[in-house]
Amino acid sequence: MRLDGNRIRSRRIKLINMCIFCKIINQEIPCYRVYEDDKVLAFLDIEPVNPGHILVLPKIHYQNFEDINETDLSALILTVKKIGKLLKDKLGVDGYNVHENNNPIAGQEIPHLHFHIIPRYAGDGLGHWPGKSYQPGEAEEIIKKLKN
Ligand code: AMP
Ligand code: ZN
Repeated sequence: MRLDGNRIRSRRIKLINMCIFCKIINQEIPCYRVYEDDKVLAFLDIEPVNPGHILVLPKIHYQNFEDINETDLSALILTVKKIGKLLKDKLGVDGYNVHENNNPIAGQEIPHLHFHIIPRYAGDGLGHWPGKSYQPGEAEEIIKKLKN
């Protein structure tokens, strides 16, 4: 009895601690599923930047892009490609952005690696992010750090 109780408690704690996207993968939270296979899930973003905004994620919980192994990455990126084509073929979008945030400073709200595929329509009002200029010597300094 005691063992069973502990097991139930430990499962409950695991579910509470699970990230929201893991819960969607485990079908504990509903979503509008677009595509699924054994490695990858794609579903509609609940607050789309534009209608048809889709999230593509690995079924294994990785937090950031640099964490994923090569096998899961190839499945993930091939699905991103498929979804881009799907948006063009089925929704007739004019274009789309592929976007992925790493860490809260970069806008990551859900710590489970995912790509955003955002349909773009003429006149949708979304701009390009602003560019900055390098100060003299700054680009050279960055190259030096990156290469050492
Ligand atoms: P990010 O800021 O890159 O972590 O993106 C998280 C995205 O997940 C946001 O665009 C949210 O709108 C979306 N999101 C959060 N919860 C859900 C949910 N339950 N179903 C679908 N999309 C969600
Ligand atoms: Zn997760």
